[in-house]
Amino acid sequence: MSSKNTSENESVDESALETARRQLHRAATHVDVEQGVIERLSHPTRVVEVSVPLRRDDGRVEVFTGYRAQHDDVRGPYKGGLRYHPHVTAAECTGLAMWMTWKCAVMDLPFGGAKGGIAVDVKDLSADEKERLTRRFAEELRDVVGPKQDVPAPDMGTDTQTMAWFMDAYSMQHGELTPGVVTGKPPVIGGSYGREEAPGRSVAIVAREAANYFDRPLNGASIAIQGFGSVGANAARLLDEWGANIVAVSDVNGGIYDPEGLDTQAIPSHKEKPEGVTRHRKATQVTNDELLELDVDILIPAAVGNVITAENAEQIQADIIVEGANGPTTTSGDEILDNRGIPVIPDILANAGGVTVSYFEWLQDINRRKWSKERVNKELEEAMLTAWRDIEAVVDEKSLTWRDATYVVALRRIGEAKETRGLWP
Ligand code: GLU
Repeated sequence: MSSKNTSENESVDESALETARRQLHRAATHVDVEQGVIERLSHPTRVVEVSVPLRRDDGRVEVFTGYRAQHDDVRGPYKGGLRYHPHVTAAECTGLAMWMTWKCAVMDLPFGGAKGGIAVDVKDLSADEKERLTRRFAEELRDVVGPKQDVPAPDMGTDTQTMAWFMDAYSMQHGELTPGVVTGKPPVIGGSYGREEAPGRSVAIVAREAANYFDRPLNGASIAIQGFGSVGANAARLLDEWGANIVAVSDVNGGIYDPEGLDTQAIPSHKEKPEGVTRHRKATQVTNDELLELDVDILIPAAVGNVITAENAEQIQADIIVEGANGPTTTSGDEILDNRGIPVIPDILANAGGVTVSYFEWLQDINRRKWSKERVNKELEEAMLTAWRDIEAVVDEKSLTWRDATYVVALRRIGEAKETRGLWP
């Protein structure tokens, strides 16, 4: 993502773990949960670090570092994506794992939270190298993952094919086909229809509900979306279909803007043509920073974390922000937006469609019975609306921000489960 050189600004460098802990402690002041439970939730159960040796295509052996952070499993097996990105660290995985715990609780799914990945630049890997790296990673994580233990899924730099390799490697080692060890697989080997589009679909559903709540009908609403990958492109195309005016989208190279509205089907998504957005010439070019500051009804940051910070939050002109990426807003960015009265609908609700359809996939794998795409989308819609209403009730009752209210819903469920099960021994 192109951005200003902001390395001196602490808030921009805030790690996912710092953001997640700050959000937890802030939300804890609004819920009646034992302090010990909050203390426990500030820490992961474990963070596994592994070395992943890879034989490169030229014969050299290179060793990469991989992680799996398991935050909490009081409500069910650990759940969350695997990320291949040069910035992957133990702290980042831990913060992202915490967000998965809240995300699953907000959606009332019987899962806890985890996240993992490998510090590697996927652009440097051939397809064969990526396959070997993934298979070896599956071997290194074999003891800590499993359908009843911890269920990975795609995230940045990984996709359905990566999950297929991971599942195959695990199944071979395990001696039996085990589709439920990961979700986000291709449908032909136990993946769910609608899983790939699900995070974008939930972002679109939440944007639609937010538009209604704030009395700005989606029909004709102007929307800018940062990122045109799985989340951004699917959200853009659905919102476009539902009558919204998508005026700007971007990828890592920059964005395009047309106040009259873009043809979202004509712009290639990252999957269709990587980094192809700015090659679509029928619009004005904007930088990623400029896109965030456009005067639109709804802004959807759906690329990477830490893009709305103390540096730019004062300049944001959108009326509503819906977080498509995980952690796009830093703590200080959030405070500025709150003071300015700009509502931020948080990631752990907005993009939770991904893990919700992962849950549907896991059920299908266990039952060896496929659901139709219509059923998946219908159940996702219902799940999103239920979560939206649960949070809306807290916003209205306690006058909290949407993020705090979302945490309240999650923390109540987790706290109750922890207090009921008790601490062992
Ligand atoms: N990586 C996705 C997320 O951040 C999906 C996780 C999952 O499906 O387990 O929500």
